[in-house]
Amino acid sequence: RNERQPTYRLLEEIGRGSFGSVRKVIREVDNKVMVRKEVRYGHMNSRERQQLISECAILSQLKHDNIVEFFHWDHDAKSNTLFLYMEYCSKGDLSQMIKHFKHQRKYVPEEHVWRIMVQILMALFKCHYGRDLPKLQTIYDEAEEPTKSKGYVVIHRDLKPGNVFLTSYDDEFNQNASDADYSKVVIKLGDFGLAKSLQASIEFATTYVGTPYYMSPEVLRDQPYSPLSDIWSLGCILYEICSLRVPFQAKTYTELQDKVKAGRFEPVPQFYSKSLQDIISKCIQVDFTKRPTSWTILDDIQCRISRKALD
Ligand code: ADP
Ligand code: MG
Repeated sequence: RNERQPTYRLLEEIGRGSFGSVRKVIREVDNKVMVRKEVRYGHMNSRERQQLISECAILSQLKHDNIVEFFHWDHDAKSNTLFLYMEYCSKGDLSQMIKHFKHQRKYVPEEHVWRIMVQILMALFKCHYGRDLPKLQTIYDEAEEPTKSKGYVVIHRDLKPGNVFLTSYDDEFNQNASDADYSKVVIKLGDFGLAKSLQASIEFATTYVGTPYYMSPEVLRDQPYSPLSDIWSLGCILYEICSLRVPFQAKTYTELQDKVKAGRFEPVPQFYSKSLQDIISKCIQVDFTKRPTSWTILDDIQCRISRKALD
């Protein structure tokens, strides 16, 4: 083992990834708590290995406050295992938060939904435009959509509540999260296992095998992923946070596919404002060319805030 490689103390397993366990570890040099995602690649075909390498490359490029930080990777050739070391998110993920509120039989307060939405959008902006969000303009400036950078443009491709992690910079945060605690969470987009850098990919074939509750109709039709497919998934996530159930539910894969392609869903509860409902239904629309981009939504929100301030 390379002398300069950091050493880690292993703590408990906190999850199971599709290719191995996920454990909490402590980096010994500074006692920093991190997560180690283990990926056994022995049985992987060359495409899957390629995907793995691209996950590492993408993650090491993507630095953003709302994206799980990737610190380092190493690998053990003997056991054909890759270890990815990343930021530890101590407050679980959005699927756990949704379960919490479902169990409490309470709606997620609307301010939480907005806060979560804006943070996911900022992460998506970073991915989709390959650059940091410019300072949002006020309505006076007639802001124009920023151009995409020449750098990496990344489509997440597997956006779902289980891949949106939660953390908190507040040490007071309770062990057992209460409703109020969720108002302080910081969102971190993670699990870029299926993500692809557009630049790197010429091949668009879909490789997904999970239950595609959050997958867009165009992707189900084997059309290429675009950043707007992530926007569809975002819409489904927001829908689920508000309604505490997925927009398209089905017993079989075929039934689900039919429902998604038809794009019809029950409205979200009246408890939520018209503006929130509007954003959700704009994201979940079958014609992807009509979906808003991450920038458009953020810009609309910013305009609404400025207008409110003027009243
Ligand atoms: P997979 O590619 O198999 O979906 P994930 O990266 O989503 O793997 O991780 C699987 C599980 O491990 C998650 O549901 C979560 O419980 C845990 N986990 C993964 N990354 C982190 C992290 N950065 N912080 C805290 N828990 C994590
Ligand atoms: Mg996952």
